[in-house]
Amino acid sequence: MKTRAGLVVVLCFLLLGSYVYAQFGDKPAELSTIKVRDDLFVVYNDLVPGNTTVLVTSQGLILVDNKFEIDFDNLMAQIRKISNQPIRYVVNTHYHGDHSGGNSKMQAQNVQVVASERARRKMVETNQPGAPNVTLEDRVRLYLGGKRVEVHYFGRAHTDGDVVAYFPDHRVVAMGDMYTVGDGLPPLVDYPGGGSTREWPRSLDGALTLDFDTAIPGHGKPAMKGDLAKYRDNLTALGRRVIEMQSKKASRAEIEKELRSRFGFQDFHIQLALDGMLAELR
Ligand SMILES: [Zn+2]
Repeated sequence: MKTRAGLVVVLCFLLLGSYVYAQFGDKPAELSTIKVRDDLFVVYNDLVPGNTTVLVTSQGLILVDNKFEIDFDNLMAQIRKISNQPIRYVVNTHYHGDHSGGNSKMQAQNVQVVASERARRKMVETNQPGAPNVTLEDRVRLYLGGKRVEVHYFGRAHTDGDVVAYFPDHRVVAMGDMYTVGDGLPPLVDYPGGGSTREWPRSLDGALTLDFDTAIPGHGKPAMKGDLAKYRDNLTALGRRVIEMQSKKASRAEIEKELRSRFGFQDFHIQLALDGMLAELR
C-alpha cells in the first residue's frame, strides 16, 4: 500500500504544517529519471514527494524543487547519472517539505535557493530549515551557461506563494503543485497555507499566457499545455459547483459527497480544504 502510505505522509505533513514529516517518512522514495529535452530532466517518483526538474548547462545545474530531506542521497544519485556539474540554483515552487526538504543540504554545497517571498515567510514561520536565499515578488530570471529560466508568480493557488519555472527556449514550464497529474491527486487547496479555490484558475490563466508545449506537474508525469488548460477548467467547474450547491442550501455532507464522487477528493483533501472552501465560496 505504497500509495496509502504516501497519502498519510502528505496528510501528516499538511496538518502539522511543518518539517515534522520526516518523522513519518519512514524511508526514501524510489526515484527514476524522465528525459523531457536533451538537457532537461525530471527526477520522478510515484505520488510523494514532488518532482524535481533538472536543467543541465555548461556552468552548472538549475533544479526546480528538491523533494524531502530523506530523499537527498537518492536524488543526488539520479542527478549524478545525468551530469557531474555542480548544482548552482534550486527553485522552490512553494513551501511544502516534499518540494523544499533538500534545501539545507544543498545550501551546504553553496547552492542558491530561490522562492517567492511569501513561501520563504511560511518556511520561516513553520521553522523549516534551509530558508531561501533569494526571493521574488512577480518575476526573476536566472542566466547560467548560456541558458535561462524565468520564475513567475501568478497569484494564489495551491498556497499563497506558488511560483512556476519557465524554460522559454525549451518551451517547458515546471508548475509545482499548481498542477498535479494522476488518480488520487486532484487539486489540493492548502487553506492554512493561503491557498484559494477562487483565485487558482486565474493564476493558471497567467501561467497559460506563457509560450510552451510541456507542463511538468508537481506530482505525476509530464503533460501537455492542453492538459493544463483542462485542469484549469476542472478547477473552475469545482468552484462553481460548490457556489451553486451552497446557494441551494446543500449540507456540508452533500458537498463532501459531490467533491469525492465528481472531483476525486480523498480524505486529506476533505480535511485540509473543505471548510476553507465552504467559507471562501459562500
Ligand atoms: Zn504542495
